[in-house]
Amino acid sequence: RLRADFVANASHELRTPLASLVGFVETLRGPARDDTAARERFLAIMAEQAGRMARLVDDLLSLSRIEMNEHRAPTNPVDIGNVLQAVADTLEQRAAARQMHFEFKLPADLAPVLGDSDELTQVFQNLFDNAIKYGAAGTAIEVAGFASSKLLPSGRPGPRNAAVAIAVRDHGPGIPRDFLPRLTERFYRVDPARSRELGGTGLGLAIVKHIVSHHRGALDIDSELGQGSVFTVHLPVATGA
Ligand code: ADP
Repeated sequence: RLRADFVANASHELRTPLASLVGFVETLRGPARDDTAARERFLAIMAEQAGRMARLVDDLLSLSRIEMNEHRAPTNPVDIGNVLQAVADTLEQRAAARQMHFEFKLPADLAPVLGDSDELTQVFQNLFDNAIKYGAAGTAIEVAGFASSKLLPSGRPGPRNAAVAIAVRDHGPGIPRDFLPRLTERFYRVDPARSRELGGTGLGLAIVKHIVSHHRGALDIDSELGQGSVFTVHLPVATGA
C-alpha cells in the first residue's frame, strides 16, 4: 500500500505543474498569441513550473538510487568538516539573500566518519537548505560537531563515542511536536502550501533519512515552537582511519 500511495503522490505532484504548463501552452497558442506582455509573464511561470518538475524528478531519482544501494553500507573514511564547509560555500549566497549566515562549531580533532561523501553532501545540502528556507531572516544557522554516545544500528561493541554527531540548528518557527515523527515521510509537509511556495518537493527529509540509514547512522529531530529546530545526524566513526 505504501508503494501505491507513493506512486499516487508522486504522480499528483507532477501533474499539477504539468497541467499548468499545458494550460499556458494553449493560452500562448490561442488567446494570448499576439500579447507580448502576457507572453513574458506566462513564460516566467512556465519556467518556474518546469523547474519544479525537474527538482521533483531529481529527488525521485535520488531516492531510488539510494534505495538500490541501501543494503551495502559505505566504507570510506570521510572528513565531515570538509563536506560541511563545501556545502556551506555553495549555499552561502542563498543564505545571505535572507541576511542569514552559517556559524560552525567543529572541534579540530573531529573523527572521520564512515561514509559516502556524495550522499553526505546531499544530506547537509537538504538540511542547510531547509534551515535557509524555514529559518527567520537575519538569524544564524548553527552547525555543531561533537563526539556522540548514541548507540547506532551498526553498534559494534567497542570504544565509547564510536559516533560523530552533526547538529544543524535554525531559528525558525519550529515544528509542532505532533508532526515530528512523520516529518521524514515522503511528501509529508507541515504546511503544504508554504512548502510549495518555497520551491520544496516534500522529499528532502525522506532523502536525508534514507541516506542516514544507508550509513547505519541515526537522525534526531528536535524542535521548540517559536524557537527553532535542530536536526542531528549521528554517523559511525571510521575506526582505524
Ligand atoms: P520540503 O521540500 O517541503 O521542504 P522536506 O522533506 O525537506 O520537504 O521537509 C518536510 C517538511 O518539514 C517541510 O515541508 C516543513 O513543513 C518541515 N520542515 C523541514 N525542515 C524544517 C525546518 N528547519 N523548520 C521548520 N520546518 C521544517
